[in-house]
Amino acid sequence: MTTQADQEKIIVEAFINGQNVKSLSQLAKENPTNPSEIVGYFPVTTREQAVEAIEAAAGAFKTWKQTSVDERIMMMRKAIEKIRAAENEIVHLLSREHGKPLYDAHGEIYVSLMWMEFACNEVTSALQEEIQTHENGKTILSYDPIGVVAAISPWNYPIALSTIKIAPALLAGNTIVLKPSPFAPLAAAKVAEIIASEFPAGVINVVHGDADVGVELTTNPHVTKIAFTGGTATAKHIIRAASETIKDMTLELGGNDAAIFLASFDVHDERAMRRIVISNFLTTGQICMIAKRVYVHRSIYDEFVEKYIEAANRWIRIGDPFDSNTTVGPVNNLKQKNVVLGLVEDAQKRGATVIPLGQILDQKLFDQGYYLQPTLVLGCDVHDPIVVEEQFGPTVPILPFDDEEQVIQLHNESIYGLTSSVWGKEEDAISVARQLEAGTTMINTAAVQGLDVRFPFGGFKQSGIGREYGTEGIRTYTEKHVINVPKTLDLPYIPE
Ligand code: NAD
Repeated sequence: MTTQADQEKIIVEAFINGQNVKSLSQLAKENPTNPSEIVGYFPVTTREQAVEAIEAAAGAFKTWKQTSVDERIMMMRKAIEKIRAAENEIVHLLSREHGKPLYDAHGEIYVSLMWMEFACNEVTSALQEEIQTHENGKTILSYDPIGVVAAISPWNYPIALSTIKIAPALLAGNTIVLKPSPFAPLAAAKVAEIIASEFPAGVINVVHGDADVGVELTTNPHVTKIAFTGGTATAKHIIRAASETIKDMTLELGGNDAAIFLASFDVHDERAMRRIVISNFLTTGQICMIAKRVYVHRSIYDEFVEKYIEAANRWIRIGDPFDSNTTVGPVNNLKQKNVVLGLVEDAQKRGATVIPLGQILDQKLFDQGYYLQPTLVLGCDVHDPIVVEEQFGPTVPILPFDDEEQVIQLHNESIYGLTSSVWGKEEDAISVARQLEAGTTMINTAAVQGLDVRFPFGGFKQSGIGREYGTEGIRTYTEKHVINVPKTLDLPYIPE
C-alpha cells in the first residue's frame, strides 16, 4: 500500500564537493503507473557544474588516495549500515519512480548490499602488493588507484548499477562523479548521498542530465576512467568521446541472451518452468541479462510451449507495484514501451503468433500507466528483429531447433554475448555451455537467479569491455604498477 510519505515529492540536487548545488532548471520524474503523478524533481546539471564536480573529485583524489584501505572499508561499512536502515524508504521511492514491484526493488537493494559487502571483504587481498624475488632481482607489483572515475548508470537497476561502481572505485582509492539516468534518477541519487555522508567532501559527487553532461564526463581530461552501463549505441559515442584523452573504460552493454533447452530437459519440472518465466519477465523484462530469446529442441517443443504458457499464466500478475500480489509492473518509460510494441507488431506483420501472458490485476491502472501485457511470440524466423535485437521489455520469442550445432551457431552469430543459459542434463548442458560466446552461462537457471557477485560479470563482443563483480570488479579500478629492481643492471646485448 502507498503511504503518506510515498505521496511526497522528492527533490534531488546535484551533489558537488560535499554539498547540494542548486540548479537553474529542474525536470519532473513521473510515476510510470500514473504518468500524471510527479514523484519528484531532479536538476539539469550544466556543463560548468559538471566541470566543478570533476574538479572537486580531482582535488579530493590527492588526499583520498593516501588513505589506508582499512579506513576506506570502515567508511563503506558505515554507509552499508545506513542504506540498510533506510531500505524501506529507498525501496518505496525506487518503486514509484521506476515501476518495479516492491519485492523487486528490495531485490535490487539485496544485490547492491551483497556486492558492497563482498567488495569490503575482498578489497584488502585484491589490492595486496605482490613482491617477488627472482633470479633477475626483485619486482614489486602494486594496484594503484586510477584517479577520477566517471560513473554513468542506466535506469533499469539504478541503485545496483551505481553501487557496483561506487563501492570498488572508492575502496580502491579513487574518487567519483556519478551520473544516474534521467529515467530513474531519484533513488540512485539518495543512495549516493547516503554513501557520500560517510566520506570526505569531493570523494563522491553526483550530477544529473543526459548526453550533454555525459559528454563532459567522457571528454574532460581530469577523468581517467569511465565506468559505463547502458546501451551499445551510447557506448559507441562514449568510446569516440573518450578517444581524445585515451581513458580507461569498463563498458557493460546490451545483450540478447539466449536460453537453450536441450532434448534432455524435463518439461514437467514446474520449478524449472517458473525459473524460465522469471528469467524472461522479472523487472518487466528490462534487465540486460534477461533471457531474450528461447530455443527449444524440436522433440520437446510443443509440450514445452504448452507448459510454458501454464507457468507464465500462474506467475505473471500485472498490477500496482505496491500490491504484494503483483509480480510484473509497468514498463519504465513510454519510449521503451514503444520500442517493445514496435518489435511485437513487426513480428506479427511477418506472420508470427503473439500470445498474451498472465493476468491483469487492475485494468484501470493498466490503461493509465506505461503497462504492456507480457507476450510470447511463436513462429518467428531466426533472423526476425524480435529475435536478433534486444527487446528490453515484456516479450519473448520461443523457437525450435534441430541439433546442438545449429543452436550454438544461432547463439554465437549475435553481435552480443552477455549471458546465456543451457537447460537439461547437467553434463550435456555444460558441454554446450563451453561452446557459447558469453560472459556468463548458467545451467538450468538464468538471469539474476544465476548471478554470483563473487565472479566477474561482463560481455563478449558488443556486450562490453572489461568485467564488474568479483576480484576483477575491484581491480578494474586500479592501474597495475610494476617496480623493478634488476640484479644485473647492464644488458648483455648492448655494446660497451
Ligand atoms: P542508455 O545507453 O540510453 O543510457 C545509459 C546512461 O548513459 C544514462 O545515464 C544516459 O543518460 C547516459 N548517456 C546517454 N548518452 C550519453 C552520452 N553521449 N555520453 C555519456 N552518457 C550518455 O541506456 P539505458 O536505456 O539507460 O539502459 C538500457 C541499456 O543498458 C540496455 O541496452 C541494457 O542491456 C543495458 N544494460 C547493460 C547492463 C550490463 O551489465 N551489461 C546492465 C544494465 C543495463
